[in-house]
Amino acid sequence: MLLHSRFMAWKFSFWGVVQMQSHKRKLFVIILAILGTIVLACGCNAQPALPKGLSLTITGDVQNEIVLTDYEGWDRTKIQYRGESQEVIPLEPILARSGIMGEQVTIFLSAPDGAIAEIPLEQISGECWLRLTAEYGWQFISENHPRQAGIKYMNYIVVSAAEPGRQGPCVRVIDGAKETALTYGQLFAAKAINRMVPEGEAKKGSLSTDVYSRRSLIPISQYLKDESKTQTTALAYYGDGSQGEIALAGFLEWRGNSADYLGPDGRTRKPDIIGIWVDPPEYSVTDLAPEALLALKEGPVLVILLDGVGYHNFLALQPAFLGSKDPKPARTVMPSISPVGLGAIVTGRLPKDNGITARNMRELCVDDIFVNASNMGKTSAKVGGSTKVISTSINQLLNPDLNGNGSTDDEVFACAQRELAIGTDLVFVHFHGYDDIAHTYGPLSPEAAARFDELDEYVKELCRGFSGTVLVIADHGQHPAQGDKLGEHGEFRLLDLVVPWIRFENHGARP
Ligand SMILES: [Zn+2]
Ligand SMILES: [Zn+2]
Repeated sequence: MLLHSRFMAWKFSFWGVVQMQSHKRKLFVIILAILGTIVLACGCNAQPALPKGLSLTITGDVQNEIVLTDYEGWDRTKIQYRGESQEVIPLEPILARSGIMGEQVTIFLSAPDGAIAEIPLEQISGECWLRLTAEYGWQFISENHPRQAGIKYMNYIVVSAAEPGRQGPCVRVIDGAKETALTYGQLFAAKAINRMVPEGEAKKGSLSTDVYSRRSLIPISQYLKDESKTQTTALAYYGDGSQGEIALAGFLEWRGNSADYLGPDGRTRKPDIIGIWVDPPEYSVTDLAPEALLALKEGPVLVILLDGVGYHNFLALQPAFLGSKDPKPARTVMPSISPVGLGAIVTGRLPKDNGITARNMRELCVDDIFVNASNMGKTSAKVGGSTKVISTSINQLLNPDLNGNGSTDDEVFACAQRELAIGTDLVFVHFHGYDDIAHTYGPLSPEAAARFDELDEYVKELCRGFSGTVLVIADHGQHPAQGDKLGEHGEFRLLDLVVPWIRFENHGARP
């Protein structure tokens, strides 16, 4: 019935229009068109289309960079802002998803025209929003904040921590005893020079065009000690596990949540620099494998790996036996953790080249020292505790804590002694005990010191029955920490990076 009457009404109006006089019909069509436009306009107002091509990147000291081009994936909310209804998305969950790292955090709201506003993170509340409009681009919206926070056409929100978090990524500079940590947020705000960097010349027929790009270059020299400013080069560590020499006249370039090294020309680029070491030790942990193989040509080799024993802590703990063997500093690899350090030690190759660049990686992609020993017709043994840190070409002789004294070092020692007694050419001994106990009690705690003295005794005992070359090294050091662990490592800092390097010829008697 309802359907029928609607049909009748439509039929009536249709015929009504057709039967109208022509000038009346024109007027009717115009009114209809105006009405239609109003209806359409109202519809658009209810769900305005967001402008295209405007992106906002949330970056800096964050785990995950987030790029917003619209409201997709976030809770759209209608709020009343300055007397108008606005469609916005909340800022807090976006910052939460980015995974903010570090301490004392502020956020920079930044636009390409150079306008920047800074807000402490603790002042960001559930009433802070992001709005995207054609008129103002991306904008920070909050009734509670000063008007100046509403930077127009914002393209970056840069999270900036005053201190990097535990093992949080940043760029660190080591110059003598001076250590500087630069978070990515700090690099965003760093003193920089603006330079037009020539990119080349283009030619078409007889016409030519020079091409440049304007770069914001952060001089590395500003982070050096005054007396180091005559130094021209440093060793750089990169996020992919590679290392290389850089010029101290070069620059850093902020790249969001990473930084690149740029040469003094402002053009030569190496991505993801994580560390600059002005005066690194001459020895590297990657020197051990070639050194051991060279010595193996002459006779048996005993390699002792003291897990977690840094060079500075080694000196502070004053081991009676090893302290008398002329310990030298050596540099380890990054991240300064067991699998990465061990991978570099047993292959003589940097992480980038040996395949183990991070935690939870175990497989090497190049030959290790044991393959090379075997190629020389030499026998070898890898002696370790109850767990295997990485996979090597020969199986590790596993030594669980059989007597339940809370340490595998005594079992490792006994196993190593057996291998030396049967005349194995290359014996590689990995003592884990110090690292474990230093994590728990601190690297220079009485507990760690006692364990270290024990290790020193074990090495002395092993040497008593051994004639050949002894090499002692560590995979990384440890620095004091607070919280659930009192010792930590993994960072680009002296206590983690400098390890002892000891080599001596020993003339013991086989037991
Ligand atoms: Zn370790
Ligand atoms: Zn450890």
